[in-house]
Amino acid sequence: MSNAQKILQSVFGYGSFREPQSEIIQTLIEGGDALVLMPTGGGKSLCYQIPALARDGCGIVISPLIALMQDQVSAMRQLGVRASFLNSTLDVRAARAVEEDLLSGNLDLLYIAPERLTQERCLTLLQQADIALFAIDEAHCVSQWGHDFRADYLKLSLLHQHFPNIPRIALTATADARTRAEIIMRLDLSRARQFIAGFDRPNIHYRIALKDNPRSQLLRFLQDGHQHHAGIVYCMSRKKTEEIALWLQDQGFNALPYHAGLPSDTRADHQTRFLREDSIIIVATIAFGMGIDKPDVRFVAHMDMPKTVESYYQETGRAGRDGEPSDAWMIYGLQDVIKLRQMMASSEGSEEHKRAEQHRLNAMLGLCEITTCRREALLNYFGEPQPKPCGNCDTCLEPIDTWDGTDAARKALSAVYRTGQRFGVNHLIDVLRGAENAKVLQFDHHHLPIHGVGTALNNKQWRSVFRQLVGRGYLNVDMERFGALRLEEKCRPLLRGEEAIMLRRETTTKTARQQTKTALPSDIDITLWEALRECRRELAEEQGVPPYVIFHDRSLKEMCSALPRNPTQFGQIPGVGERKLKKYGEAFLQVIERHFQHTFGAAG
Ligand code: ADP
Ligand code: ZN
Repeated sequence: MSNAQKILQSVFGYGSFREPQSEIIQTLIEGGDALVLMPTGGGKSLCYQIPALARDGCGIVISPLIALMQDQVSAMRQLGVRASFLNSTLDVRAARAVEEDLLSGNLDLLYIAPERLTQERCLTLLQQADIALFAIDEAHCVSQWGHDFRADYLKLSLLHQHFPNIPRIALTATADARTRAEIIMRLDLSRARQFIAGFDRPNIHYRIALKDNPRSQLLRFLQDGHQHHAGIVYCMSRKKTEEIALWLQDQGFNALPYHAGLPSDTRADHQTRFLREDSIIIVATIAFGMGIDKPDVRFVAHMDMPKTVESYYQETGRAGRDGEPSDAWMIYGLQDVIKLRQMMASSEGSEEHKRAEQHRLNAMLGLCEITTCRREALLNYFGEPQPKPCGNCDTCLEPIDTWDGTDAARKALSAVYRTGQRFGVNHLIDVLRGAENAKVLQFDHHHLPIHGVGTALNNKQWRSVFRQLVGRGYLNVDMERFGALRLEEKCRPLLRGEEAIMLRRETTTKTARQQTKTALPSDIDITLWEALRECRRELAEEQGVPPYVIFHDRSLKEMCSALPRNPTQFGQIPGVGERKLKKYGEAFLQVIERHFQHTFGAAG
């Protein structure tokens, strides 16, 4: 293992492996196959990069993310690794040059798009080359169940047939058992060792709140610690992404929209800008995200509720790949549930499929309404029970106040029942609160025994009761009738008075407290931090690479607190390998030196 350890330090500038990197690396170095399931940010890339360097020959990385290959290659070259890519963006001459490099043994890593790899010409090329390993990134793309299915991935089983002796590693952050089984089957990996890391993303702080005044809620969230950060704001509709992006621009943020309806060059431009710029917000539909491996996304905000817990996990997972504290923030309302239900009802697909979708939507709503630790619920959903509450989510940090909602719930349920399970929440609240408007009179609901029994709660409180009843599966939203609520089997004992229910008390947004600690640690000098960022920005611009390719935020933070004053000290900073020390040590040391002079006078 000492060779791998040496590479980790000298090339990547890291002192130790994370779980289970070293075992994976060991397996590959010894020639074995591996299936790696690790959450985003877990450190998958090292698992093939280091064996590729440690073994003879070139490591071949198959990835569907053509747009990112250039940046991945730049990042590797910054470390002194001889990396290149082959995809459709190269002209014939450039591609030939890469092929020659491969054949003459001048490459450590070669990224190839799957459609390219499966061509006869490419296979012939690889047959002639010395190959260290095959890494199949985003391996869930073989799964027809997922959203990211790529037909070309199905052909990748030919790797095993053509190159039976070359180790293969398949990697993904997508997790469920069905996808895993499919990867093994389709890629012929039944003999591979499986490495399944937990799903937890401890650096992500989860926060879910009720929609009240969405724009000002978002604004407050951004102003409170994310003023100069990169982040993603997800919205349900295309139109809304454009509106919110414009509005954020008016508020002084660098914000861009992204959705599948934009012209493809605009989309590509916005994506590139997001990857390249330091403080930029992309306001997007779910069309945005696949393969966004920008490590310094500091927040993911949901303006609407996602359809499933899987999507929520995947979308929020784009925050904080670099392991630094990050926020997953969301606001939701009953209206979201109704809209999603309608979209599902009008979608194609069998009844069974729709029922499954509804089930998943209910689980998502359940996560919103829960009164205990969010992370616990999230991980439980993925079959990974947590021993204790996390201490880094809203419900842990600000325990939910609950109240005995048995009586209110019973009234709400009987209102649904007495009105024939045909009405939406607004009308039901009118009846409960004793309104005598046209609709109430028209249906003769002012004569019902439940009319006016609910004056003790105001409109907002009743909405909360109904939403929680839907969230916990006592009520359902009728897919055929616009937002009509129907009783579910589960509500019988409650209606009969055999069961009590505790409901969460809504805190008004005014009292919503301090959020996460994504701001800089207090011991960091902000002027030094900004000066280091400026230095990084200039270097990145000079070379046409994203700033994080020069150094991650984490390395800059370390520089701020360790204050290295010579190359040896600088080399101790995590993320500073030999190559980067040589290339950038002086520039950053100068910035630090100037800071000393400024702060402590010429003596330093
Ligand atoms: P993934 O592909 O699993 O999302 P990456 O491979 O991009 O994750 O790694 C996420 C971040 O963690 C990167 O910034 C990487 O440099 C860093 N990292 C990975 N392994 C280590 C390690 N052993 N020590 C320190 N940092 C690491
Ligand atoms: Zn928690």
